[in-house]
Amino acid sequence: PKVIFSGIQPTGIPHLGNYLGALKQWVKLQDEAAPDTTLLFSIVDLHAITIKQDPKALAKWKKEMLASLYAVGIKKERSIVFFQSAVPQHAELMWILSCNASMGYLSRMTQWKSKLALPDNASPLDPSPVSKAALKLGLFSYPVLQAADILLYQTTHVPVGEDQAQHLEFARELAVGFNHMFAPDAKSPLLVPPQTILSSAKRVMSLTTPTKKMSKSDPEPKSRILITDSNEVIHKKFKSALTDSIDGNAYDRESRPGVSNLIDIMRHMDEDITGSDKEWMKELEGLSKRSLKETAADRVNNGLKDVRGRYEEIMGRKDADEFLEEGARQGGEKARKLAQQTIGKVREALGIA
Ligand code: ATP
Ligand code: MG
Repeated sequence: PKVIFSGIQPTGIPHLGNYLGALKQWVKLQDEAAPDTTLLFSIVDLHAITIKQDPKALAKWKKEMLASLYAVGIKKERSIVFFQSAVPQHAELMWILSCNASMGYLSRMTQWKSKLALPDNASPLDPSPVSKAALKLGLFSYPVLQAADILLYQTTHVPVGEDQAQHLEFARELAVGFNHMFAPDAKSPLLVPPQTILSSAKRVMSLTTPTKKMSKSDPEPKSRILITDSNEVIHKKFKSALTDSIDGNAYDRESRPGVSNLIDIMRHMDEDITGSDKEWMKELEGLSKRSLKETAADRVNNGLKDVRGRYEEIMGRKDADEFLEEGARQGGEKARKLAQQTIGKVREALGIA
């Protein structure tokens, strides 16, 4: 049977990139899953602290993320929704995997570089472009914790955006290497190498700098649309989106990143479009930039208004805190039970049971 796992950091309200690249896919997988499929969605707070966080803001963001997951349509009756830090086995398996994780491989990962605004060729083994004090061990070893998150549940499928594909490859190699070393003759693998599922909206770009991905941690709030933004705010943000001064609209990610991003966003917001792609592009071709942005804003508002409504409903409950705490408690309990099974086998294989 399939096991689907994915995570999201509580570093702010999810944006359009998270929604189209990950969350919408999670809901679809959940709603179409066979009865014997296990689904786990984790709010990965231990990953969030690899970057400096204000403790009060983090506590608030955790709640908001849980409410956001419920609002987009993740059902706690069907899927296991939990905070990573509620399951100590994540950190335990991470340590065990760390003992087999190659520094060289980790140094080639690009995420720690982009979080520190370093060039892609920066290396901690050649310290010249890297401030050694700024590169913390936790940020560097982030992919090992992520591998532990996934491997802990014998996960078969991981739906993520393109920025995470590299980490998934790393997780697979760790699993294969681990099995080879500690359970070469096992009938079923000790750790399951997971498959990556990329949604078609694999990389939604920033509205203000369309050459980089939309991110929760981008300091420019206008760079992203939040799933809770009002119609008015959505329109304002699209209005200030960066496009170009070329007449007409055409899809070309290289030479027209801003316009192409708007087209991609519209396309992915609305599943119906794919069928009549060509006709639909014709309609957009002649629009002024102003109308293009307005069309995009309308479409995004339409696609998000139910999510926004459900979010407000959850946060507006008198017992919102208790409701969220109870949901998290139940999810944590279910996750710990599954995690313990894998950790038990791993400890035994290592001789530390
Ligand atoms: P942060 O800036 O704090 O890293 P983030 O916006 O990158 O936040 P994450 O919590 O790191 O969000 O990622 C959650 C999921 O959203 C992952 O599966 C990731 O691949 C996906 N994702 C993030 N940004 C985008 C994007 N711009 N387009 C498509 N998918 C995205
Ligand atoms: Mg990220």
